[in-house]
Amino acid sequence: MNNKVALVTGAPKGIGQAIALKLAKDGYDIVINFHSSQDKAIQLQSLIQDLGQKAWIYQANVADGKEVENMFKMIKEECGKLDVLVNNAGITKDNLLLRLKDEEFDQVIATNLKGCFNCTKHAAKLMFKQKKGSIINISSVIGLIGNIGQVNYAASKAGILGITKSAAKELARYNVRVNAVCPGFIETDMTKSLDTSYVDDIIKNIALQRLGKPEDIANTVSFLAGDMSGYITGQTICVDGGMVF
Ligand code: NAP
Repeated sequence: MNNKVALVTGAPKGIGQAIALKLAKDGYDIVINFHSSQDKAIQLQSLIQDLGQKAWIYQANVADGKEVENMFKMIKEECGKLDVLVNNAGITKDNLLLRLKDEEFDQVIATNLKGCFNCTKHAAKLMFKQKKGSIINISSVIGLIGNIGQVNYAASKAGILGITKSAAKELARYNVRVNAVCPGFIETDMTKSLDTSYVDDIIKNIALQRLGKPEDIANTVSFLAGDMSGYITGQTICVDGGMVF
């Protein structure tokens, strides 16, 4: 019960994996949420155990309220507490507005925005009783500036910023902090399918002239999770190499 516990949604790969490993190095036991990547979740569990921390694996579609409710029942029973929630699970279904199908809009909103709501609500129920907690929502610079072909994704990520600010105001009285991180373009499966000329154009608009790495996001999440950021809530931190300022 004395160990700190963090739940990372969409943890098996990319940014989620880097966050889970960084928090484990910081001394947290980790609940690994995955949707489809079971093998990668098992590999991550083993890496975390090698670091001397406990790791639980839980399959849940964050868009599904019942599955999320059951995941939090498991957390309450197995871990007894939750110190940190990282709402990282996310998808893209890019298309130009005039071609964007209803289901492409709905799926992205369901996973990215409703998923953030589902997990934040259940985490808040645990954290307000503890009178302590930190919730970190992975949004995107696209939620701030928009992007061609990403109306659905931009709406979901802007919505996450609304959840962040409102939940921060509601939960501050219980010493629960809620902040958002807006990654720029980070090298993961989500961005590897982009064509080279598009990526070259993106890099021209990044002050540091390179894409980010998952660890760049994980380091900021680590800061927001712990007591070093104890007087920060309701904030949005861009980790984007200087794309948006
Ligand atoms: P990624 O490599 O595609 O990983 C996405 C993760 O989300 C996977 O682990 C996946 O789990 C999980 N996931 C997807 N749908 C889920 C669902 N319904 N329920 C539970 N988990 C689900 O993407 P990434 O680049 O690491 O992105 C992580 C987060 O950062 C996302 O929210 C993304 O929008 C955000 N972001 C990324 C970038 C970037 O440039 N990469 C930029 C800005 C923001 P399974 O594999 O198990 O399905």
